[in-house]
Amino acid sequence: MIDSPVDPEELDALPGLLEQSRFPVSGLLATHGDWDHLLGRLAFPAATLGCGESTGARLAAEPGDAQRALRSFDEEQYLERPAPLGLGGLQTLPVPGRLSLGDEAEIELHPADGHTGDGTAYWMGWTGVLVCGDYLSPVEIPEISDGGSLEAYVATLARLRPVVELADTVVPGHGSPLDRERALAVLEEDVAYLSELERAGAEASLPPGRRTGAQQRRHAANARRISAPS
Ligand SMILES: [Zn+2]
Repeated sequence: MIDSPVDPEELDALPGLLEQSRFPVSGLLATHGDWDHLLGRLAFPAATLGCGESTGARLAAEPGDAQRALRSFDEEQYLERPAPLGLGGLQTLPVPGRLSLGDEAEIELHPADGHTGDGTAYWMGWTGVLVCGDYLSPVEIPEISDGGSLEAYVATLARLRPVVELADTVVPGHGSPLDRERALAVLEEDVAYLSELERAGAEASLPPGRRTGAQQRRHAANARRISAPS
């Protein structure tokens, strides 16, 4: 399982649902260290959690941050969880690199930083599925958050483009899965947005279909971040 749902009821339903679909979970992977992608162990407490080495380093450097962010989200949403989130014993994986699944299948790991300072995209060529974390979302504009940078974000999109061109399905961290054509369209919109953001800052126009109040606030934060001295 790559990344995780956030809702306690969804996490609770997952093991039974996957068992019914005869889809046994053998391990967990995370695309990056933001708390909302790290909750797999709440559904599968004993599973190995793997991540790219940049995420392993980030989580080691900020122990407890994910748990604190989860707690503050839960307090705001009045959510209760049956158990605390354990992130010990992470398996960090070299990126770029490959992860074998049994004899036939291999997951390719691609660096995907820029949204944050860490990040890995997972390409499962035998299924035609790319899981890219917080890139290529049809509902969120690109977000440059702590540790991320505009240059790295643009470089990640350029790196992902040839993989998206091979993919049947792209699964972003937020929003529905995309077919290749739609994913390439989102990629072009994101490249256009980022180049305008670099040139025009807060005046940049947002990608069509992603102009809600929440995305305007995200855009304002991006503009502040790229103009702040680093
Ligand atoms: Zn994120």
